[in-house]
Order: sequence, then C-alpha cells, then structure tokens
Amino acid sequence: AAATDENDVVVIGGGPGGYVAAIKAAQMGLKTTCIEKRGTLGGTCLNVGCIPSKALLHSSHMYHEAKHAFASHGVKFSQLEIDLAAMMAQKDKAVSGLTRGIEGLFKKNKVNYVKGFGKFVSPSEVSVDTLEGENTVVKGKHIIIATGSDVKSLPGVTIDEKKIVSSTGALALSEIPKKLVVIGAGYIGLEMGSVWGRLGSEVTVVEFAPEIVPTMDGEVRKQFQRMLEKQKMKFMLKTKVVGVDTSGDGVKLTLEPAAGGDQTTLEADVVLVSAGRVPYTSGLGLETIGVETDKAGRIPVDKHFKTNVSGVYAIGDVIPGPMLAHKAEEDGVACVEIIAGKEGHVDYDLVPGVVYTHPEVASVGKTEEQVKALGVSYRVGKFPFMANSRAKAIDDADGLVKILAEKETDKILGVHIMAPNAGELIHEAVLALHYGASSEDIARTCHAHPTMSEAVKEAAMATYDKPIHM
Ligand code: FAD
Repeated sequence: AAATDENDVVVIGGGPGGYVAAIKAAQMGLKTTCIEKRGTLGGTCLNVGCIPSKALLHSSHMYHEAKHAFASHGVKFSQLEIDLAAMMAQKDKAVSGLTRGIEGLFKKNKVNYVKGFGKFVSPSEVSVDTLEGENTVVKGKHIIIATGSDVKSLPGVTIDEKKIVSSTGALALSEIPKKLVVIGAGYIGLEMGSVWGRLGSEVTVVEFAPEIVPTMDGEVRKQFQRMLEKQKMKFMLKTKVVGVDTSGDGVKLTLEPAAGGDQTTLEADVVLVSAGRVPYTSGLGLETIGVETDKAGRIPVDKHFKTNVSGVYAIGDVIPGPMLAHKAEEDGVACVEIIAGKEGHVDYDLVPGVVYTHPEVASVGKTEEQVKALGVSYRVGKFPFMANSRAKAIDDADGLVKILAEKETDKILGVHIMAPNAGELIHEAVLALHYGASSEDIARTCHAHPTMSEAVKEAAMATYDKPIHM
C-alpha cells in the first residue's frame, strides 16, 4: 500500500548497487522503495554472478586438491567422486540463503520492496508491472536507476544456455563437458573455465586481444597465464570466432586469426560466451523522460550520480566505471549520502579488482604500464611467495607481491598480488593507497607471523630498501 505514497527515494533494481542504496537511504531516515523484477534480491551478483561462481570455484578447488594435493599432505582415500548435482545444490543453497538475507535486511530497515518490472512514466513516477500481474505506480522525489548489466552477445553466436551458454548457463551445467571452449579471456571466462577444468573438462580459451585480462599488470599477467597453462587451460589469443555450427552433437567453431588469414575449426561440447557485459536499460522508459545514454548504452552521470534529468540518478554497472559489485555498492552509498545532503564520493582509481582463480590475482591502483605511460619515475618492490614461510608450510607458494611506488616520495602507486588468497591480502594495499601511504609505511607496520601478509610487508621493504627473506 505504501508503494503509491510518495517516497523520498525509489530505487529501480535490487542488485548490489540498488539494494545497498535502498538500505542506506532507509537507515538515513528516508522513505524508500526498491523495485526488482527478478523475484529475488541481490541482482546479477548474488543470483548469477559473484556468489554462485565463488561457490563453484570453492567446490571444484576442493575436488582438485583432493585429487592432486591431499596425498602429499598424507591424506589418502581410495575413492574420489564428483556428485555434480550435490555441488550445484550447495551453490543454490548459498545463493538462496543470501538473497533471503537481503529481504530480511529490507524488513529490518523498513525498505518497501516491490516485486516487478519498473518503467518511468515521468521523472518522479515509475509504473510497475508486478510479478502478481498487477500494475502500480511508485512515486519518488529522487529515483535511482540501478538496473545493472546483462551478458554481451556476439554476432552470429546464439546463446541457448545448453550448448552455447552465457555465464548463467555455465553456472548450472547438468553434466561436465568433455571439451569446453570459452570465448573471451576476461575474469569471468577464466573463473568459469577454471571451475570446469578442475572438474575434468578440456578447456580452450579463445581471445581476440593479444593478451588475457587486459587490465592486469603485464608482468603479473604473464606469470598468471603460465599458472593457468600449468593447470592445462589452453589459450588461443589474437583469434576471432567467425562461425558457430550447432547442427551436430556438439558445437563446431570456425576461427580466424584476429588480423585475418586461414580459418581453422575447433570442436566443443559446450561453448561459454564471456565477451563482456552491457548495461541493461531495456524497457525502462528512459526515452519517455529524456535520460541520455552514451554509445555503449551506459547512462552518463556527474560526480553526484545525477543523470541529465533532474531528480534521476544512476549507479552501478549501468554507468561508466569498473563493472564490479563492490563498486556498485560504493556508488549506492555515496549517491544516497548526496541525496540526503551529505558528502559522498567514490574514487574509481582505488577500486580493487580480483580474479578468483587459483592462485587469485588481485590489484589496486596503477599497473607498471600505466605508471610508465604517466612518465613518473618509480621503484618496483617484489617478493615471491616461494620465500614466504606460511605459503611454504601449506605447500601453496605460487605467486608474488609487486608494489610500485613513486621514486621521489615513495608514495605507493599500485599493488599487484598473485596468491591463493590475494583477494583478501589486497585490502591492506587498498587502505594504504587510500591514505596516500608510502611503501615504508607498510614495511614498518608489524605483520603477524607466519602469514601470507608478510609477503606484502617484504615487497614493501624491497620497494624502498631490501627485504629480509630474499
Ligand atoms: P545488477 O547486479 O545487474 O542488478 C540489477 C538488477 O536490476 C537486476 O536484478 C535486474 O533484475 C534488475 N532490473 C533491471 N531492470 C529492471 C527494471 N526495469 N525493473 C525492475 N528491476 C530491474 N563482481 C565482483 O565484484 N566480484 C565478482 O566476483 C564478480 N563475479 C561475477 C561473476 C559473474 C559470472 C558475473 C556475470 C558477474 C560477476 N561480477 C562480479 C559482476 C557483478 O555481478 C556486477 O558488477 C554487479 O552485480 C553490478 O551490480 P548492479 O547493482 O549495478 O547491477
């Protein structure tokens, strides 16, 4: 009933951007409604993204370790099996527990939740076709667009979510494919390729660009690719897919060098299309109220998340910037703080990025290539996990920490970590960059022993002086 009363804030989309904005707004005493069409909260991230992929990465890692690593730790057993249905059920349980948890948070914080598809009828009114088949108009002084993103399709490659799947289909295969071809060597393709590779698929990654994960520091990327190749992932770089034939049992792909040349074919049981994501604004009625989008379909906003239409804001994957859940959350909080008349700001240069393979790769700030391009004189400090006692103790010592600091001031410019738990280790670097710390600041901070974090301290020592253990 409250839906038709005027709200202070209406959020369209219940993903990490939208649900966080809605909770924050309600916490600040603003009357808030969140509209979500999916039937569950949490958006792409919780339903078909971050969470189910991390569940499967963990389960498949356990299997892989049991198969390849346990024996050397003296843990032996006679029979090892994969129960894929049970693995999927555990993933589904994690997802449903978390999405229901957000519903609980909405209740606790008194966010009004409308389940249905929202469409602008004016800059302060959203018409919602509810999942129950009714229509209601939700009014708000401020409306936040948090409709997120969708899978980017490739011309001539039709996703059927069976033989040709998007990440969503790749998170729910009912059988382990013998041969999996991944189109696109971004983090989503590499993570999903890792899952199925560990469970036994032969994985080939086809990438148009000359390198995998283009945003990664070049030196780290090279080592990372070698790690994945050691895990039997194959790469066909500078290669484009020009044809897909699904008429037989499996899929036959026709490939061509990116620069043109002779065609080759590649067979697969399943093809994963992970060539990026596109902003989702379809059916939202942006034209009706005159909200502009750019060439890529994103909604441009100013520093205050305002679109070109007064009272209408946008956050998360639907606006320019890193398409990551934590960035969407930061946007959500800052946008609502601004609506409430406070300060809100997100520094996109300090958004950490993590690839959750094994080892993980995490980074924040600038890559060496970016620092060079800026023309800044810099120092590099590196420390390999081979020289870290904890990594050796657990026999998981592939990877390194690399720190880039300005030569003159020692101010940290970027940190890149490849390690089993790099996604956790990176945050001390995020904090350091946020506070404008020097590498010496990290090096003089006491780190517990024995931890993987000591490698961050030693890399910091190596940046302005010498490490102890190398
Ligand atoms: P979304 O999460 O896309 O949410 C938007 C919501 O709006 C959706 O639920 C949609 O149903 C709803 N909606 C859209 N239009 C309407 C409408 N008109 N009316 C009502 N509702 C509407 N990011 C990370 O940071 N870490 C990871 O590990 C990670 N892993 C990923 C793995 C995969 C396989 C994928 C696909 C993505 C992953 N991401 C990850 C990216 C992350 O999911 C997104 O960056 C994040 O979800 C963006 O949040 P958002 O709130 O902007 O949009």
